[in-house]
Formats: sequence, C-alpha cells, structure tokens
Amino acid sequence: MGSDCKSCHQLPLNNYTSIPQYLRGNRWVLTGYRVNYSVTQCLFSIFQCSNEFFNIWTHLAGFFVFAVLFLSDVLVKLPYEGADWSDYAIVTATLSTFAFCMLCSTGFHVFNSHSRNCYSVWLAVDVSGVAIGALGCYLLGVYYGFYCYPFWRSVYAVMVGLMCLIVLAAQVYDALSQTHNTLRSVFLFCSLGAVSVIPTTHWICLENGLESSLVRLLLPKVFIMYFLLLLAVVIYLSKFPERFFPGKFDFFGHSHNLWHLMVVIALCYWHRVGLEIVHIMLHSKCNHVKLQ
Ligand SMILES: [Zn+2]
Repeated sequence: MGSDCKSCHQLPLNNYTSIPQYLRGNRWVLTGYRVNYSVTQCLFSIFQCSNEFFNIWTHLAGFFVFAVLFLSDVLVKLPYEGADWSDYAIVTATLSTFAFCMLCSTGFHVFNSHSRNCYSVWLAVDVSGVAIGALGCYLLGVYYGFYCYPFWRSVYAVMVGLMCLIVLAAQVYDALSQTHNTLRSVFLFCSLGAVSVIPTTHWICLENGLESSLVRLLLPKVFIMYFLLLLAVVIYLSKFPERFFPGKFDFFGHSHNLWHLMVVIALCYWHRVGLEIVHIMLHSKCNHVKLQ
C-alpha cells in the first residue's frame, strides 16, 4: 500500500498529478503510475510493483483458472456425465470466452502505459473481451436453460449473439476513436446483462413457474449471479475503498483490483451452475417437459 512499495521500484513510477490525461481514471489512486513505458518495460512491469500489478495478476491468474477448469471438464466431468459432442462444444466455447476475456484484460493492463494510441487499441481489446465473456455467460445459460425447447433456444441464441455483437462494435468504435466514456460503457454492459431478464422470465413460464422444482433450484442461483455482477459494478463505479482512503490502496486493494476479483468469482460461479444444469439435463432427458 502507498509508499510501502517504493523500495521495490526498478522502473520509474509517477504520481497522479504528473500523468497524462488518458491515464487519469481514478483520482484517489495517487501513486504507482507507469507512463510512456517501452514494450519491453511494459512486459518487465508484470513483475514489478505498480498500481497495475494486481490488475494484471488477478486476470492472468483468472486465465489459468479457466484453463484448468477446461481440462477438468473435458477430461473428467463431461465424460463422467456421458456428454455428447454438443456438450463438449458448448462447455469449451464458454470457457474459451472466459479465458479470452481474462487475457484481453491482462493485455490492456500490461500495455496501457505505452502511449495514448496503444492505450486506445488495448482498451478496444479489453472491452471486446468483456463482450465476448458476456456472450459466454449467455451461451451456457441459453443452451441449457432452453435445452428442452430447441425453437426458443435458437431464438435467444440469435438474439443474444446480435446484442453482444452490437455492444462489442459500439465499444470498440468508442475506444479506437478515443471517445470512450466509462459511464456509457458501464451502462451498455449493464443493459446487455439486464436483457437476460427476458429469457429468464420466459424460461420460468415454460417450466411452469415456481411449481417446478427445477425453477426453485436454479432461480436462486441466477439471482446470486445477478448479485455478484451488480456488486462488481457498484465497486467499480464507487471507487471503493480508495475514495475514503486516498493513497492507501494505490498498490493493492483498490476498486479495480476488487472489480477484477469479483468478475473472476462471478464467472467461476456461473461455470459451476452451468455444470449443475448439464448434469440435470443429461439425466432428465427432458422427461419433465414430455409430461406437461
Ligand atoms: Zn481492468
């Protein structure tokens, strides 16, 4: 925290007052800024104390977490469930989007200090990763939520695919044209998440509402996912805790670190819920729908 890290600085670090405008995203993080680093210095800074250190490592670690989950699912869990090729494809695609999201974010935090143009390009990569990660969440939810309703599954797959594509294009354009606005970006991504209320409500109706044991089992988990994402956004926007202790969380524990951690936790949670639905669907074989 704060000045505690000064002894381990090898590359120069700047204070908030001396950094260029494009790096001024959080006025309560006072020190530890990397400015105009070469590509080599950016790469070296992965291992150096700065206010980006934990931003880099939280999502680099997240990438490895999803790589390990992929191996565990493909080599152990899916064979155990008797999954077919489509289950392998969906689980692989979902975990690939999560891992991709982690790598894009890591790249942004490694290279954002190189130059203004480099910042914009990597910001475009970062927001693309978020949109692709959101697509992965939808993919798992829509495929298995509507497992027994192939028509609606196709309808919602096309709908969320288009929505993610539109948000991705808008965000990439904003980043590359250097007109990126944090609040607009958060609003767009929150809207992308909020639209999930439509397929979720429809799924509840198709499954016979709260009388269905499947709905009673899964709906609370959907709410937990909403809660985790909402908490992540609140932390991100509120700049908590550094807003109340300026300079005390410059290197560790500031809101962007916590935001990254919350995203990894939410994606891991959704993956776990997804595997639970895989188990239910592969064993029920949609008998509950045939009986309706
Ligand atoms: Zn980030």
